[in-house]
Amino acid sequence: MAKQKAPALEQLPLTALKGVGERLALTLQKLGLHYVQDVLFHLPLRYLDRTRISPIGQLQLNTSVMIQGRVLSTQITYGRRRSLVVQLEDDSGVVCLRFYHFSGHQKDKLQQGVLLRCYGEPRLGRSGLEFYHPEYDYIDEANATQLEQRLTPIYGLTDGISQQRMRAIVEQAVDLIHQNPPDEYLPAEYNRRFQCESLVEALQSVHRPEKGAALNLLMEGLHPSQKRLAFEELLAHFLVRRKLHQQAAAQKAPTLKMDKALQQQFLNSLPFSLTAAQQRVAKEIQANLGSGKPMLRMVQGDVGSGKTLVAALAALCGVSSGYQVAVVAPTEILAEQHFHNFSGWLENLGLRVAWLVGKLTASKRRAALESIASGEAQVVVGTHALFQQDVSFHSLGLAVIDEQHRFGVDQRLSLRQQNSKGEIPHQLVMTATPIPRTLAMTAYAELDYSLIDELPPGRTPVNTVLVTQARREQVIERIRAACSEGKQAYWVCTLVEDSESLAAANAEETAALLRENLADLNIGLVHGRLKASEKEAVMKAFKAAELHLLVATTVIEVGVDVPNASLMIIENPERLGLAQLHQLRGRVGRGEVASHCVLLYGEKLSEQARSRLQVLRETNDGFLVAERDLQLRGPGELLGTRQTGEMQYRVADMLRDEHMLQEVNALGEQFLRHQAAVAEKLIARWVGEREQYSLV
Ligand code: ADP
Ligand code: MG
Repeated sequence: MAKQKAPALEQLPLTALKGVGERLALTLQKLGLHYVQDVLFHLPLRYLDRTRISPIGQLQLNTSVMIQGRVLSTQITYGRRRSLVVQLEDDSGVVCLRFYHFSGHQKDKLQQGVLLRCYGEPRLGRSGLEFYHPEYDYIDEANATQLEQRLTPIYGLTDGISQQRMRAIVEQAVDLIHQNPPDEYLPAEYNRRFQCESLVEALQSVHRPEKGAALNLLMEGLHPSQKRLAFEELLAHFLVRRKLHQQAAAQKAPTLKMDKALQQQFLNSLPFSLTAAQQRVAKEIQANLGSGKPMLRMVQGDVGSGKTLVAALAALCGVSSGYQVAVVAPTEILAEQHFHNFSGWLENLGLRVAWLVGKLTASKRRAALESIASGEAQVVVGTHALFQQDVSFHSLGLAVIDEQHRFGVDQRLSLRQQNSKGEIPHQLVMTATPIPRTLAMTAYAELDYSLIDELPPGRTPVNTVLVTQARREQVIERIRAACSEGKQAYWVCTLVEDSESLAAANAEETAALLRENLADLNIGLVHGRLKASEKEAVMKAFKAAELHLLVATTVIEVGVDVPNASLMIIENPERLGLAQLHQLRGRVGRGEVASHCVLLYGEKLSEQARSRLQVLRETNDGFLVAERDLQLRGPGELLGTRQTGEMQYRVADMLRDEHMLQEVNALGEQFLRHQAAVAEKLIARWVGEREQYSLV
């Protein structure tokens, strides 16, 4: 009997696996998993090390561990917040587990003497090292010494599937891998380079790490197999983005020519002249706009470098040629600010500026939609409300998207509707997140790149100082003094946990304390738990100088311009990345007076953390800050802070893998030129049909 060839895993439906019925298959589809091969490329998000139990007496701060011990006591305490505190004891010591959210049932089950295995990272708490909301299992006496043999992979899930179930499915897929190995698309030298025998081996070793495999490397994403896979993934994403770029170049766009007289009139109306960098970038943009092919360009510029003005010039160019221009901001407050600026600049020239945000009343909204549809509105400023389906432009020629990392590629693309002449609007995205160039070339390979590398003259750099919490009272006095001179200040609370509700609680507490200490000041509070309208009301009051001090979590809006605010306190800055701190600091230093940023650090600041913060003292240059952050921290969150909606990587990490990018880009260009079919397959494997990447 002829041996039947096993079906290729890329065509084998998931229902071929044991325990996967139609219903589970549908659930798995939500994760983009359709075929067995997709499961193989559904890579672990991270690993848990359940191969060894750490002695409680040897716990280290912020190091993930598994401990095992008996419950010594369980009680509810009423400190600043009600919490359930469980003391766990082993031969070497005792540690507290603390829960802010818990049920009566949970408390009852955690009886004295019960044996628990508990996973988590100890942090500094009231009683010393504590575990906050750790995961835990009850252990039978019989299993007390049984441990996992390998690292436990943790997979991305969706509603309707558990971690265990997912692991069982992946296990089956891995069992099938030798029967019908996925194709190798990378030149063979790359396997050698990453010390892998094959793609199969790489996949196998990430899903099923060998016993005794280099645990730390795997945990940190630095195992050769992970690098091999990350390289391929970066390549696939690069290819997809370059393809978008090529597709765009093949399309038609309106030819937009600047009305020089109008431009001159506009420039004359400004109280300053453009910086050289603004002029250069404006020229780059105008060259695109006049080319007849859709522009896809990103403008990067540090906070305060004057991106809005560059956008206004682009808008003027669109309007000059009789087309409409959309300007999209990530929040209503920013949209309002842009609306204010644009109407101030353009209505003087006889142009009509409209605005569209979610909060408009029905009648105002209808009026705005009508003026957009009729073409009466020449420039339309708004939020993502502009992406909605009922918004139809008469003749959209250009979309400007500000602070683009708040939007997903999919949203951006939804503005690329053809007009009646079959033309695609130009697109300009502006971002203040400083990203080193190679990184930008990969992360945004579908975009051309312009850099405003100069600040307008006459800015006084923000003076940044490091102050210990021990001198908190002096800092509070400083706020009192500044506000009594009519200045305004921010107090930024950082995340304690990766939890918006804890952060909000913390900010509330801080605001309450500051209100006690600074009773004669008006103090406002914003955090992520407030309704959008509440947030906005507070921001508005602050802008109107009705509030002296604004206490905020890190949600304070990117780009908000309150020139009168000249003092910012950032509490526990060591918890944030430098790039994020720099962004925050950019909220001050916008007015005439010298501005100050106080980094109010916690008591136990490590030498390394201190030298990291020193970078902010030394420079106000966002790109330098980003580069130093990269050097100091290696893996970071520069791109990680990009919001949902943006493509997620499975194994790659743009920053950690930055050293590979140049090669990824070069190999990618080669594939596009000489191996287009393989490029397609790579894209299908890693990006699949995730539609945010499809153009129009
Ligand atoms: P960002 O790049 O952070 O978006 P903005 O566009 O908000 O910066 O500009 C910050 C401030 O600098 C604004 O008040 C703007 O009017 C001002 N500005 C922009 N360009 C210049 C310039 N060439 N000279 C002086 N001030 C400028
Ligand atoms: Mg801006």
